[in-house]
Formats: sequence, structure tokens, C-alpha cells
Amino acid sequence: DDSEHFYKVIPNDHIGYRYEIADRPLLGQGTFGQVIKAYDMKERQFVALKLVRNEKDYLKQSREELRILHVLKKYDIDGTFNIVTVKEFFMFRNHMVMSFELLGVNLYQALKLNLFRGLPMPKVRAVARAILKSLELLFKLRIVHCDVKPENILFRKNGDYSSVKLVDFGSSCYEQSQIYRYIQSRYYRAPEVILGFRYGPAIDMWSLGCVLGELAKGTPIFTGEDEFDQLAAIEEALGPVPSNMASRIKHRPPLRKDRGPPGSKPLKTILTGDDVFKDVLKMMLELHPDVRPTPMELQDHQWFSISLSALDRKQASQMTASSNTSYTRK
Ligand code: ATP
Ligand code: MG
Ligand code: MG
Repeated sequence: DDSEHFYKVIPNDHIGYRYEIADRPLLGQGTFGQVIKAYDMKERQFVALKLVRNEKDYLKQSREELRILHVLKKYDIDGTFNIVTVKEFFMFRNHMVMSFELLGVNLYQALKLNLFRGLPMPKVRAVARAILKSLELLFKLRIVHCDVKPENILFRKNGDYSSVKLVDFGSSCYEQSQIYRYIQSRYYRAPEVILGFRYGPAIDMWSLGCVLGELAKGTPIFTGEDEFDQLAAIEEALGPVPSNMASRIKHRPPLRKDRGPPGSKPLKTILTGDDVFKDVLKMMLELHPDVRPTPMELQDHQWFSISLSALDRKQASQMTASSNTSYTRK
């Protein structure tokens, strides 16, 4: 039990002279600590406070998170890159506290509220547009987010898919200073990360591809039960990794019983959405990182110049009400 390392949150209590904890404060909880809603009495508005665990490694990691957040803030002055805005930070009773603009629910919560049925194309496209802008800035600054997933994409205005922002730079790093081998949540983990190669901004493009596929389908597209099985799930849909990557595979445990061999379950068959969307996903999910498009290149794809087309309206009306079963996440 490591609850002793978490800040004990009491509704309506104060954090310093400036913040009053809300009535129902908990916005999120992770291994790092908690995110709570609080009232900023100085600026007279609600904010989100990230309260980091009071241990050395978490504190150190939060300093790197802050460094990256401040670089991004300097470049995203008018909010065109859809990156969460950090406001201030301070130490309180041995906990690092970071204040952020208060955002709405995350995309995992939105999918859940929609009973994991998947979203119509215009909503998927709106998220793609917004987060590709984020990835564009990260790419230009050589920063890798390392944890793009539905839980880390939040609405500014609940329900408005064009208003989403990217949060959680707690695993992020500069491309040239990679610290960790185990990054990204498993379902969104890029093949080069699984195989232990050096990685760069292309891993975020992979994860975003997984997120968009999930938004369309309602549930994650590659659901490996462990890291080997994750690669098997990817290969089942996309075929074997190229030979210059496969040389890194040290051993292959036998495939799980309901897992087919590479290429046996093509991406097309597990996805919903129009053919142009499937083409976009195929590009984002190129097995070799060097072949994946940059965010700038991908934004020029014709899928983004389609606005509310006839195709979308047809797609929206064909949306079935059949709900997918719930699933466990790691
Ligand atoms: P992970 O465990 O995925 O690494 P984390 O624990 O490091 O995440 P965050 O992802 O930053 O922490 O925050 C956890 C959750 O808190 C988010 O998924 C989101 O639901 C909520 N949250 C974070 N920031 C905000 C914010 N600015 N406004 C509202 N809710 C937020
Ligand atoms: Mg997170
Ligand atoms: Mg995190």
C-alpha cells in the first residue's frame, strides 16, 4: 500500500492561500498522484491541480514535465496547437503541485459514456485535426509525448470534438535524451518501442493512429495481453514487421489461441469508417517509423479537406446501435 505517498485530499480544504479544493474534487488518479478540481481565489476561476506523489523519483520526473510544459507554453501562445496550459507550480507539504487550466472529460470517458459504440467520422476527424496540430509542434521541437491515448486527450468543452487538447507530459522527453525503455501504454505502443529501438516523434503518430481507430470502432484496435502479444496483435492486422526490424525479435512465444498469424486479420476488417479514413490509418500505422508521415505531411491528406460530406452523413445514419462489450485496460 503506497497511499501514504499521495496527498490526502479533503473537499473544501485549502492548498496554500490561493486554492480551495472543490466539493467533488477528484478528476483523475494515476501512479504519479492525483488531479483535482480547485478554485483559484486569486484569478477567481476553477483550475485543475496535479498533486504529485511525495517521492524523489516522481518529483524529479515532474520537474522534467514542467520544463517541457513551459517550452510548449512559450510556443502555443494563442492555443492553435491544442496543448494544455500550465499556470504555476509550487511545493506544498512535500508534494509538487502544478496548476492547469480546467478541462472537461477525457476521450476514454466519452467513449464509455457512448457505451463503446464508436463515433461518426466527423468527430473522429475533428480529433485528428486537433491532435495533429499538437504533434506538429512537438515534431518541430523534437519533443516526444510518449503517452498519446484517449485518457490524455481532453475536451475543453464537453462534447465538442474540435475543442480537444493534449495533456499529460509526465512521460515526455526530447528525442536526443531518451531515458526510458518502457514507455507508452501497451495498446498504443509503437513496434519500434516494443522491439527496443531508439524512438522519436513517430511513436506519437503511431499512438494517434491507434486512438483514431479506437474512436471509430469504440474499443482499442490492438489489445495485446502482454508485450509479445501486443506485437502479435499488430502483425495479425498489418502483416509481419519489416526484416530490418524483425532481427531484433529475440524469441517468439507461441501465438495465443485466438490470435492468427501475421496478416490474417487485415486492418480493413477490424475497422469501421470510410475508405479514405482507412487509408489515413494505414499511413499512421506504418510498421517502420521512417515510413510514417510527419504531422505536416498527414494534414495535407485529402481526408482532412472533406468537411461534412455526403459520405459522413451516410456513415452517421448507418451507425449501428449494437454496443461492444466492455474491456479491461492496462
Ligand atoms: P497517466 O497515469 O496516464 O500517466 P497521469 O496519472 O500522469 O496519467 P494526467 O494524465 O496528467 O496524469 O491526469 C490524469 C487524469 O486527470 C487525466 O486522464 C484527466 O482525466 C484528468 N485531468 C488531467 N488534467 C486535467 C485538466 N487540466 N482538467 C481536467 N481534468 C484533467
Ligand atoms: Mg495520463
Ligand atoms: Mg502520465
